[in-house]
Amino acid sequence: MATILDGKAIAKLVRGEVARETETFRARTGRAPGLHVVLAGEDPGSVIYVRNKEKAAAEVGFAGRVHRRPSTVTEQELLELVGSLNQDEAVDGILVQMPVPSGIRGDRVIATIDPSKDVDGLHPVNAGALWSGSRGLVPCTPLGCMRLLKEAGAVLRGARALVVGRSNLVGKPTAALLLAEHATVTIAHSRTADLEKRCREADILVAAVGRPRMIRGAWIKPGAVVLDVGMNRGDDGKLCGDVEFETAKDVAAVITPVPGGVGPMTIAMLLGNTLRAAQAREGLC
Ligand code: NDP
Repeated sequence: MATILDGKAIAKLVRGEVARETETFRARTGRAPGLHVVLAGEDPGSVIYVRNKEKAAAEVGFAGRVHRRPSTVTEQELLELVGSLNQDEAVDGILVQMPVPSGIRGDRVIATIDPSKDVDGLHPVNAGALWSGSRGLVPCTPLGCMRLLKEAGAVLRGARALVVGRSNLVGKPTAALLLAEHATVTIAHSRTADLEKRCREADILVAAVGRPRMIRGAWIKPGAVVLDVGMNRGDDGKLCGDVEFETAKDVAAVITPVPGGVGPMTIAMLLGNTLRAAQAREGLC
């Protein structure tokens, strides 16, 4: 029976660390780190995510606010908003909540963010920095995965790691971070041949697909560490991951549940990124 990693508890630990460091930052600079979130439109999921981010930021003592725009906002208007946040000295972190309304090019909006304020780590400059080994700001969910692996005491050096999914948001940056920790990394995707075989070889398995319970317990290597990033609605209407948890937990050494595993880490790491961005802008790190 696997150890079940409590993402909620570890995220609370991270938020506590950020709150303490925020106090130190405030004492040294006379101001709080400023996180600014841009929410365009009323996508129901986005509205909830943004509310949670706003609440978490206030709890650790950040300044900043949510910039809400109607779904009729134009791309030009969003670019101008991001441009003004780039210029604003009180703004340390800018996050544009995805998806943006149809007709607006999300990648264009992201590319307009000052890379030093890009706390989602999605700007091409930050993505390039990650792959070239000089760390800029790194996407939050992959950072959360790495912190979970650390808390689990997982040995990464020389381990065979499989990341299922190759998105810019999760799969690719997670692979880059595992590689930086000297794991031997494979990235699988929808065209990967014999995914089951790849899974059976993996000491570390990160599932970031978006397909309910796609990775069967029988595919897991005994003793593997399994991180399930997926957030799906199963046929029963319940939230579930990409891994068949009930069977996988009997084979893996360590596994994250859904909900309560990787999910809570994402906002905690966003707070950490904002603090780092603020410290860097003040020359404190
Ligand atoms: P994307 O849809 O951007 O990427 C999904 C990836 O899965 C793609 O690379 C795709 O391959 C791959 N894939 C799809 N079908 C298969 C298959 N049958 N076999 C192997 N690979 C497959 O999703 P995201 O990366 O944004 O998110 C992945 C999951 O993680 C989602 O469930 C999302 O809700 C969740 N998520 C959770 C977060 C959290 O905080 N817990 C944060 C972000 C995401 P291809 O490239 O070939 O199409």
